[in-house]
Amino acid sequence: MSNDWQANTRAIHAGTRRSQYGEVSEAIFLTQGFVYDTAEHAEARFLESGPDEFIYARYGNPTVKMFEDRIASLEGAEDAFATASGMAAVSGALTSMLRAGDHVVSARALFGSCLYVLEEILTRYGVNVTFVDGTDLAAWEAAMTPATKAVFFESVANPTLEVIDIEAVSRLAHAQGALVLVDNVFATPVFSDAIAQGADVVIYSATKHIDGQGRALGGVILGTRDFIRGTVEPYMKHTGGSMSPFNAWVMLKGLETMSLRVRAQAASALDVAEALEGHAGLNRVIYPGLAAHAQHDLVKRQMGQGGTVLSLDIKGGKDAAFKFLNAIQIGVISNNLGDAKTILTHPATTTHQRLPQDQKDVLGITPGLVRISIGLEDAADLKADILQALQAI
Ligand SMILES: *Cc1c(COP(=O)(O)O)cnc(C)c1O
Repeated sequence: MSNDWQANTRAIHAGTRRSQYGEVSEAIFLTQGFVYDTAEHAEARFLESGPDEFIYARYGNPTVKMFEDRIASLEGAEDAFATASGMAAVSGALTSMLRAGDHVVSARALFGSCLYVLEEILTRYGVNVTFVDGTDLAAWEAAMTPATKAVFFESVANPTLEVIDIEAVSRLAHAQGALVLVDNVFATPVFSDAIAQGADVVIYSATKHIDGQGRALGGVILGTRDFIRGTVEPYMKHTGGSMSPFNAWVMLKGLETMSLRVRAQAASALDVAEALEGHAGLNRVIYPGLAAHAQHDLVKRQMGQGGTVLSLDIKGGKDAAFKFLNAIQIGVISNNLGDAKTILTHPATTTHQRLPQDQKDVLGITPGLVRISIGLEDAADLKADILQALQAI
């Protein structure tokens, strides 16, 4: 493994550990435990296990370790801890580092479960949380105090695709001594440079683009070796949110093709967004890669491209949105994203159903909003399908 390798090479080879059989494809170590040669050896491992020594799969497993090392290499992070799901990663990263009396500043526009963790769970244990408009740097600055230990945000917010300036928010947070935790799912590891831009901790739901084929749940927390092994690992290994070896294998194979998939999906997403811009049936086409996106300069600087997801605000509200969804022939109505299959979601009635109306209004989750995760189908077919479904309204 060379530090000079480009991302595409690291995505294939970084972290590989071969067994004595010299297998080409990474082995799945479907074992929960490991055998010790002697009682003394067992005692020694429990005292201080070395980097290539495993005790119990909740603590670590060779297949899981390959995934952790490969994604850490890709992200430019010192270390990584793989988790059972994206939410195990979000909740584990926050809970492991916070204690009663600490203060967190978070962007308001969040995935529903992230909002639940910050608003309902952390506060139950005496952590104070302030929510701000993530695009408003003055609001971030005003909310931070010397008690602020962490700031948290999704770098591209779901489903309105507002982009938060990692560099600027990190500068403000670091001035207060707070850590910056970024849920980077919509940016994807392919278009991420979050650590170089100032993030201390980067979190992915591997369920999304890393698997990319809708098969397995997983997540990962990336950061310094100190943070991952000193703060996250003790919490995760004792509370049980570790990734299974089988899912780690699915994610390892996903990493091998991720760049090809995500770049193709992003190119199609731009193609579709451009074709729909100005359509008479739409109030708005929201896609970070469009020149018309309010933060297009920031998108260029931070991600280079617009990602794989776009949102349409369809004229005619919920009725029209439902007619549109029901007329789609290629994409499926579901709620995952980053999948090889195009997936359409109506956030107001599904993923964000439980948000009170005033919150939906603040976040721009209108009754006509439809989120589309662009898949790997032919872009011309996708455009034709979306246009015929808009016509069907
Ligand atoms: C999907 C998602 C999560 C949660 O991931 P799971 O793997 O479903 O637990 C967290 N944050 C964002 C932005 C997501 O899209």
